[in-house]
Amino acid sequence: MDVVLFGPPGAGKGTQARLLAARLGVPQIATGDMMRAERASGSELGRRFDAYMGRGLLVPDELVLELLEERLRRPDARAGAIFDGFPRTVAQAEALDALLARLGRRLAAVVSLDVGLDAIVERAAGRRVCEACGQTYHVRYNPPPSTGRCGACGADRLVRRDDDAEPVVRRRYEEYVAKTEPVLAYYEARGLLRRVDGTGSVDVVTRSIGEVIDAVRSAR
Ligand SMILES: [Zn+2]
Repeated sequence: MDVVLFGPPGAGKGTQARLLAARLGVPQIATGDMMRAERASGSELGRRFDAYMGRGLLVPDELVLELLEERLRRPDARAGAIFDGFPRTVAQAEALDALLARLGRRLAAVVSLDVGLDAIVERAAGRRVCEACGQTYHVRYNPPPSTGRCGACGADRLVRRDDDAEPVVRRRYEEYVAKTEPVLAYYEARGLLRRVDGTGSVDVVTRSIGEVIDAVRSAR
């Protein structure tokens, strides 16, 4: 089952993509992470990414599609994948449809995690990150241990990131909405878009996504 997951920055999309991938037994395909890994590996494709990313330029869609195709042809992705962070434009959405068609597949659903700006701002305000290992916490929803030390690595360096400051969060949210609306409209016109309320706890949102996916599955 091939599913695209959308959600504004700070909505927990990465976490939900990982959980959904595990539930469906398919890989989570986060193109940003894959491109960074490819560069780090020093592969031929990675060196081609380097030429753009090293200069702060956007990687052309053709190169990203090449990476995606190679990934989708691996055995663990034969039954499907969860796309996290791709497509970001209508052109990319069309290219993904064409790629899947070449592989004899098509998207089963596009899930949009809907979270309002106020909720995103509140989450960001409570977020704490361990400077030592990157583990994240939230003072209300996922508090760090009462010792004030990171539960994952034991360091006492839990901080607020500059990225979580309200003006930054607002700007990123507005950028996301402006960029994503046309892509969501593209999928809505194809009957693929499923909106899920993303404001609850991780468990509640996971359950809502599961219900949507079950309904799509049983309708197939
Ligand atoms: Zn830590």
